[in-house]
Amino acid sequence: MSKSLKHVVIVGGGSAGWITAGRIAAMHNSKSAQGVKVTLIESPDVNIIGVGEGTWPTMRGTLQKMGVSETDFMRECDVSFKQGAKFAKWVTGDEDDFYYHPLVLPQGYFDIDLFKYWQQNNQQPSNSQNSEQSSQPKSFSAAVCFQEQLCENGLAPKLITSPEYAAIANYAYHLDAGKFAAFLKSHCINKLGVEYVSDHVGTINSTDSGDIASVNTNNHGDISGDLFVDCTGFSSLLIGKHFQVPLISKKDVLFIDTALAVQIPYEKGDDAIASHTISTAQDAGWIWDIGLPSRRGVGHVYSSKHTSQGDAENALRKYLKSSIGEKSEDLTFRKIDINPGIREKFWVNNCVAVGMSAGFLEPLEASALVMIELAATTISEQLPANRECMDIVAKHYNERFSYNWDRIIDFLKLHYIASKREDTAFWRDNKDPETIPESLQELMTLWKHRSPSEYDFSQKREVFSAASYQYVLYGMDYEFTQSNSEKDEKEQNLAQRMFAENEKITVKYSAALPSNRELIEKIAQFGFSKV
Ligand SMILES: Cc1cc2nc3c(=O)[nH]c(=O)nc-3n(C[C@H](O)[C@H](O)[C@H](O)COP(=O)(O)OP(=O)(O)OC[C@H]3O[C@@H](n4cnc5c(N)ncnc54)[C@H](O)[C@@H]3O)c2cc1C
Repeated sequence: MSKSLKHVVIVGGGSAGWITAGRIAAMHNSKSAQGVKVTLIESPDVNIIGVGEGTWPTMRGTLQKMGVSETDFMRECDVSFKQGAKFAKWVTGDEDDFYYHPLVLPQGYFDIDLFKYWQQNNQQPSNSQNSEQSSQPKSFSAAVCFQEQLCENGLAPKLITSPEYAAIANYAYHLDAGKFAAFLKSHCINKLGVEYVSDHVGTINSTDSGDIASVNTNNHGDISGDLFVDCTGFSSLLIGKHFQVPLISKKDVLFIDTALAVQIPYEKGDDAIASHTISTAQDAGWIWDIGLPSRRGVGHVYSSKHTSQGDAENALRKYLKSSIGEKSEDLTFRKIDINPGIREKFWVNNCVAVGMSAGFLEPLEASALVMIELAATTISEQLPANRECMDIVAKHYNERFSYNWDRIIDFLKLHYIASKREDTAFWRDNKDPETIPESLQELMTLWKHRSPSEYDFSQKREVFSAASYQYVLYGMDYEFTQSNSEKDEKEQNLAQRMFAENEKITVKYSAALPSNRELIEKIAQFGFSKV
């Protein structure tokens, strides 16, 4: 009979390692002698990447399932609330060009497609029935969702009296990646029974069947296990170096291959903390700007084929100059090389790769941590009972994650091709059909005639829902061929009610919610109510 799975060995202690360890340990009761044992080995010689400050709302569920207190997490990881992303200069490149991708679904999302009615309102003359909406055209996201206004006003998504993880407006986090890994490490070791080994893994020992029998460490000898999780980041020690699973480059689709990162202190202690990630398009990439309680994290990601490091640094200094003035001249930037690509397979024999060892594309839309969460959830929920089941679980896992990565590639590329910018080679090259996956080309044709819908995607747990595609497409003013279908009067009335309802709750929440900084300071002082 096949030996049952008793011991999971995770190599790597970045966000990927600790999230995976925490999810498995919590679900499989690692604290108890009857539970599945989880050991995490982390090299003292290889630093974690230490960037990755934007998450998805899924992180709330991930932390909750690991038994993390939201108050402790927010206090210890320098956390602020994130309610979406503001994309500046992505559409035309003009100074006043921006749109939002909020985290709240469009009003009435499951009952009605508001896009055509929004478009119709914006086209009507100002003396028409709906003069309020038509005389002051609103962006798609502002017309169908209250969150854009909350972000523009720097407001928090909830109140201090809201229970932990509960939202008034759906939210994610901005966090300090270094503090986050340290926080999870302490939680996993002290509360969930994860065994920690600080040591460098050198060689891998195999069984006759090709499985990993054990990993050899410098000071703790061989550590054996039933399932090995490769969370070694870009070194990809197990899946890449040992199993030789190739990294499929995606550089021909997504051109970003270099990052320059820097941390910027606030000018004054009470400076506003942005409630959203600000992503500002550049000549050959884009700049992220993330507000944490104690500092900002800012970086320029660019295509080295389309600009030089010197020009990229100058663009970043110019961007920072508008907020910190001449101090931007004295900054030094951390350079990080990115090789956009994904592994041909993620689970081979008794080894599964999670995090950057499995693949990384670029930071746009914070899709890396959400993929880690999805991987950790799938592995813990589908943990094979024994070796006999493992190849079947692995087969399903590989199919599912190949699909997920492909959808992410489509969604990221969408941002570059829906743009109207043609001012530099970077933007022009992005629109070359040779660089656009066929799956996305098909969807773009479909979406000329109707809105993105749940019918366009096949999985129960899609990383990006059709609503996200709508926000990006309509935020970018994507060319839409007016449908000839008759406008149903009943539906028309429902649409106007939805717009009015959105206006009402925008006003209500704008008046009731505290500023992002005010709530964060209150959490530091009093904490949230425990659930
Ligand atoms: C510029 C940039 C910006 C990003 N921004 C975002 C963002 O906003 N949102 C988002 O979701 N993601 C973002 N990411 C991605 C995110 O940072 C990573 O997905 C996340 O931090 C997980 O990294 P990791 O744990 O896979 O790898 P790492 O953090 O690199 O950890 C690797 C671990 O493996 C260990 N290790 C390596 N070799 C050995 C060995 N031989 N023996 C033992 N241990 C070993 C190391 O000690 C370390 O603990 C960004 C990435 C980059 C490059």
